Amino acid sequence: MEKIKNTQPNYVLAFDFGGTKLAAALVDLTSGEIAASETQATPANRGAEASLKVMLQAGADVLEKAGFTNKDISGVGISFGGPMSHDRRHVLRSLHVSDWDDFPLPDYVSKTFNVPAFMDNDGNAAALGEWYYGAGRGMTDMLYVQVSTGVGAGLILDRRVFRGQGLAAEFGHLTVTADGPMCACGKRGCVESLAAGWAMARSGKEAYAKAPAGSVLKTLGDQAAGAVDAKMLIEADRKGDAQAVEIVKSGFTYLGISVANAIALIDPQMVVIGGGLTRSWDVMNPLVQAALAEYLPPMFRNRTRVEHSQLHGTETLLGAALLTQGY
Ligand SMILES: [Zn+2]
Repeated sequence: MEKIKNTQPNYVLAFDFGGTKLAAALVDLTSGEIAASETQATPANRGAEASLKVMLQAGADVLEKAGFTNKDISGVGISFGGPMSHDRRHVLRSLHVSDWDDFPLPDYVSKTFNVPAFMDNDGNAAALGEWYYGAGRGMTDMLYVQVSTGVGAGLILDRRVFRGQGLAAEFGHLTVTADGPMCACGKRGCVESLAAGWAMARSGKEAYAKAPAGSVLKTLGDQAAGAVDAKMLIEADRKGDAQAVEIVKSGFTYLGISVANAIALIDPQMVVIGGGLTRSWDVMNPLVQAALAEYLPPMFRNRTRVEHSQLHGTETLLGAALLTQGY
């Protein structure tokens, strides 16, 4: 908490450019509370300009809802789901929306709202939010892992975001099994290709296609006209469907193996796991813990705390807001 010493509210605008949604929020950095927010679906097929327009309007709406103007905010922080230049002033491209090539997003937003603007990728922003306001409060070194549609991460080392040359903490694309399934990144065997929501949905659909009549997965899949997703797969796992149990166990065991590898590399005080799939923490955590017990080198056992996110979805916006404070 060394960066913000006053107790007066300090409002900033935060943006989260995600693949499926665009979110804007007015954040009081002093309390870590969101005073107003708005979420819109990403117009993914209409290029960067459409996304930008929707987001700037959402920002203006959020200020208006709170009875604020540009003069009442001290800065803008942006989380962006895609690679950016090393100085974090240019988006190189979006993983989800076309035409973002080499776009100076923070400068553009800064001109619009007439305040300084800062940007980082979504993994780093979420890690920052969770460390400052969530489960990681007070930690010196922390790894944040987000298990949602994809698997992202961010690393706090010595109370700073560790960025390497700009691509640090690509936890989702650590190889956990040689010749494993194909990943969205273009190689095989990434933890994302086994534990992410999209990967579980892929495996779930394949299992459903072969599922015997009367099985839980077949029944649930039929009810959804074949639209098997990770949530449904976990529901089938809870009901004891043999194929679902195997896929979920495999995915979250590989997640645990990756966490074990990261712990052995970094020796952090804490690993926080968040994201949509952690709504099934009661299913995920025992499998991660079992993998840690098996795959952590003995000297690392019972050393790093592995915790569930405390912010449940607001960590990215809160972390984006904190980018205005020099993190
Ligand atoms: Zn990958």
